Amino acid sequence: MKLAVLRESAGGERRVAATPETVKKFIALGATVSVEAGAGLTASVSDEEYKAAGAEVGTRDQTLSGADAVLGVQGPDPAALKGVKDGALIVAALNPYGERARVEAYASAGLEALAMEFMPRITRAQSMDILSSQSNLAGYKAVLDAAAQYGRAFPMMMTAAGTISAARVFVMGVGVAGLQAIATARRLGAMVSATDVRSATKEQIESLGAKAIFVEDVKGIEGEGSGGYATEMSDEYKAKQAELVSSHIAKQDIVITTALIPGRPAPRLISDVQIATMKPGSVIVDLAVEQGGNVEGAVAGEVAEVHGVKIVGFRNVPSRLAADTSALFARNLYNFLSAFWDGDAGKVVLPDDDEIVKGVRLTQGGKVVNERLLG
Ligand code: NAD
Repeated sequence: MKLAVLRESAGGERRVAATPETVKKFIALGATVSVEAGAGLTASVSDEEYKAAGAEVGTRDQTLSGADAVLGVQGPDPAALKGVKDGALIVAALNPYGERARVEAYASAGLEALAMEFMPRITRAQSMDILSSQSNLAGYKAVLDAAAQYGRAFPMMMTAAGTISAARVFVMGVGVAGLQAIATARRLGAMVSATDVRSATKEQIESLGAKAIFVEDVKGIEGEGSGGYATEMSDEYKAKQAELVSSHIAKQDIVITTALIPGRPAPRLISDVQIATMKPGSVIVDLAVEQGGNVEGAVAGEVAEVHGVKIVGFRNVPSRLAADTSALFARNLYNFLSAFWDGDAGKVVLPDDDEIVKGVRLTQGGKVVNERLLG
């Protein structure tokens, strides 16, 4: 089985879908790996390192020629995949809702597209979950981005010239990214508080030494929520949450928002009126900006300034830590493909009735087959 690793073509994408470590592991399984020249450069991996791991390094055409599977971080352009075998697997984050036309094009080209962000949240698939691995580092980077924009220090400092007080950091949305943001802000010495709609997060927030700020009078989502995911909240809940945020946010220096609802626009958590109550020089980082944004006035790809508050809306935050996020992404892909490696056949075999396969498979036999896209 020949695996092709492409140089990413999407603007601003610095990650790569395989590392020398995973190349070696794939070869140990019995696969051959072909890497497009320069694929790893923006993630600090040279062509020589791929060659030393056993990969062939060549042009895009050479890489794709006769490939049984194409590994990517983002979905490759279907028109640029000439030379791959019929029914070749496309294994990447395919943004199935946002790039529906591209999914159709994979189907028409007879390719079998596998969307890694549709990985089911079951124990067996944890090591294959790109959303977790990438969100984790995004949560960390969000705090560093906030610190870089903030004209003050995070920890309390006692100096001969007087005392500097600790920054107050508020994290909204305590999934994988939010938990890492709390831990990072704590390590930097900030006073941290956090909120979520899922009640299970309360204990997680407190165990990290942060203060849990929750809507009390209206019930949120009990426990973890289905698969750890939130749903749209009732109008009554939203009104109570807005009240809570209004009373809390004016005292905060840094706010990190990470709230997402699968398949829907991100919930709006902070309004312009609330931003106006914050101190000038405060910083908000909106990690949901590409999904529509949690913060009014956030602009994707920019640092906006509103009422003297900086709103950071960087795109593709995982790509800002490309060496580490690539290492984890590449392991997620290896863990997935190796779990379905058939030693006798010498290739990946994906059983139709497997929960993981049903979750990630978007196209097969010329058609879109995924329930989430058809339903
Ligand atoms: P996510 O990215 O979908 O959402 C981020 C957070 O925003 C969630 O905690 C969500 O509850 C919160 N949120 C949504 N709407 C909100 C609102 N209106 N106000 C405040 N907060 C809101 O979530 P995620 O980070 O991908 O994962 C969430 C959970 O799933 C985690 O607790 C994680 O442990 C679990 N998980 C399990 C597995 C597995 O078992 N394989 C894999 C990944 C994640």
